[in-house]
Amino acid sequence: SFTAEAVPQAPEDPLFGLMAAYRADTFDKKVDLGIGAYRDDNAKPWVLPVVKRADEILRTDPALNHEYLPIAGLATFTSAAAKLILGESSPALLEKRATSFQTISGTGAVHMGALFLSKFFPGNPTVYFSNPTWANHHQIFSNVGLPIATYPYFSKSTKGLDFEGMKRGIAEAPDHSIILLHACAHNPTGVDPTQEQWKELAVLLKEKSHFPFFDCAYQGFASGDLAKDAWAVRYFVEEGFELCIAQSFAKNFGLYGERAGCFHFVTGPGVDAQTTIGRISSQLAILQRSEISNPPAYGARIAGLIMNDEELFKEWEENLRTMSGRIISMRKALRSKLEELGTPGTWNHITDQIGMFSFTGLTEKQVLQIREDAHVYMTKNGRISMAGLNTGNVEYFAKAVDKAVR
Ligand code: PLP
Repeated sequence: SFTAEAVPQAPEDPLFGLMAAYRADTFDKKVDLGIGAYRDDNAKPWVLPVVKRADEILRTDPALNHEYLPIAGLATFTSAAAKLILGESSPALLEKRATSFQTISGTGAVHMGALFLSKFFPGNPTVYFSNPTWANHHQIFSNVGLPIATYPYFSKSTKGLDFEGMKRGIAEAPDHSIILLHACAHNPTGVDPTQEQWKELAVLLKEKSHFPFFDCAYQGFASGDLAKDAWAVRYFVEEGFELCIAQSFAKNFGLYGERAGCFHFVTGPGVDAQTTIGRISSQLAILQRSEISNPPAYGARIAGLIMNDEELFKEWEENLRTMSGRIISMRKALRSKLEELGTPGTWNHITDQIGMFSFTGLTEKQVLQIREDAHVYMTKNGRISMAGLNTGNVEYFAKAVDKAVR
C-alpha cells in the first residue's frame, strides 16, 4: 500500500513557493522580482494589443469550432513557427529536412525532445547543461531517464560569460553528447555568447560531433528583434548541424497560460535527409499521441493568426519592442541608481546582461535580508526578473540592495 515511506514528500517548487510568499505579504511596497512574466510600468500583466486584436478576430469568426487539432498541431501555426526561428530561406526548410510539432509551450517542447532523445539518440545520451540553467531542465531530462551533467557558464568574478570554462566543459564531454544551449537571453543569468563566440562554439561542437539542443524561450524579447535573437540557431543550421529546438511563445506573445509552443527537429543535409526526417516525424507522432493526443488549440490559433498576417505581424514586432525596450530602460535605471548611491561593487553587468533576467551577484544571505527588510522577492541565487521593476519601484529596490551590500 502507499505508506509514507513509499511516497516521500517532494520539495515545493522554489519559484512557485516564492510567488505564494509574495502573495501572502501584506506590505504595500512589496516587490515581486521572482516570476519570469512581463509586467507593465504599473506592475500589472500586459495583454499585448496585437493579441487582443487577434482574439477579437477569432472570437467573432463564425467558422470557429472546438474540434481536435491534428496530432502534430495546427499546421498554419507550426509552419509559421518554423519560419520564425529558422528564417524563411533556411536551407532546412528549402530542403525539407525539418519537422515541427506543436507542444505544451516551451516546457512541453523540451520534454518532447528529451523523450525522443531518450529513445533514439545514437550517441552518448548524457545531456550537458550550462551551470546554471533553467532549473526545470534538470527535472525534465532526469524524468525521461537521461543522465545529466553540466558545463561551466557564468563567471562569478566578471558576472559575464566564462567562455574558456564553457569551451573546456564542452570539449571534455565524450564525443556525440547532447549539448543544451539557450538560443538567447539565457535564464537565469541574462548572459549570452557573442556572435564570434557562437562561431567558435559551432567549430567545437562539430569537432566533437555533439548534438545541439536549443531552448528558445525568449525570441524577440531579448533584443526586440526576432531575427537577431534567432541568429545562433540559424547559424548552426547553416553550418549543417543536425539539431533540435524547443520554442516557447509564452513570453514573446504574453500567452503564458495558453501553452503555445513548438518542437522542431532538423536533420543534417544529405541524400537520405528526407527519409530520416520522415521517420523522426513518425516517431514523434507516436510520442505525442501517447502523452497528450493532440495539443491545445486557442493559443496556437492566436499566435498562428498573427504570424501569418503581415499587418498583425508588424504590430507584434512593435509590441515586442515595447516590452524589450521597457526592460532595457529598467536595466539602465537600476544601474545608474546603484552607481549614484555608490553601492560597493561594479554594476555594469546589469546593463551588459540581456532579456528577462539579471544575475545580480547578490548572495543568498543578502537576498534573504532584502526580503526581510524591504519585502522584495527574488530567487536565492540572486536572480531578478527585470520585468518586475518599474519607474515606481526601481529606486526603492536600489536602496534595498545598497543597504544589504554595505
Ligand atoms: N526554457 C527556458 C529557458 C525558460 O526560461 C522557460 C520559461 O521560463 C521555458 C523553457 C518554458 O516556458 P513555457 O513552458 O512557459 O513556455
